[in-house]
Amino acid sequence: MPTILSCGHPITDHGPNITGYARTPDTNEKICYDCAAAAELKDMLETGRGFMYVGTMPGDGYPDYAPANEVYCVHNWTGRNKIRIGGVRAGHHNMAGYQIHFYFRYAGALWHGIQWHDRPRLSTGLYCRVYRTKQLVTEVYCVPGARMRARMGI
Ligand SMILES: [Zn+2]
Repeated sequence: MPTILSCGHPITDHGPNITGYARTPDTNEKICYDCAAAAELKDMLETGRGFMYVGTMPGDGYPDYAPANEVYCVHNWTGRNKIRIGGVRAGHHNMAGYQIHFYFRYAGALWHGIQWHDRPRLSTGLYCRVYRTKQLVTEVYCVPGARMRARMGI
């Protein structure tokens, strides 16, 4: 029998050096990666802020500088919750060189994150704070799948 976690699911399939489960911040219970990802999205909706990595996912190469047939996205620490980054804007920053603002649409709002670099491009694999702006958008590029929405209760 596989180990059943507090969320009611088995340990997530995983590589040799990771656990296959996460812990809830409040009660320290073991939960699977899907439930942890759903909880992170729920927390983002409630608080209007989150921590996400910048990565890539399949796409048409827009906006500028993404590799061919990919687009930039944000995702969580297990590579889940991928949401397409819809806009990137680089500005000069006197300490780091460049401040790269990126924007994505999620749950009817525009979200914003910032990276600091010596070049005017997004870098993948970096952990960033993201914030919900007050700007509402009706068009959503990427929404959680049906199974994830059911878990989130939305
Ligand atoms: Zn679970």
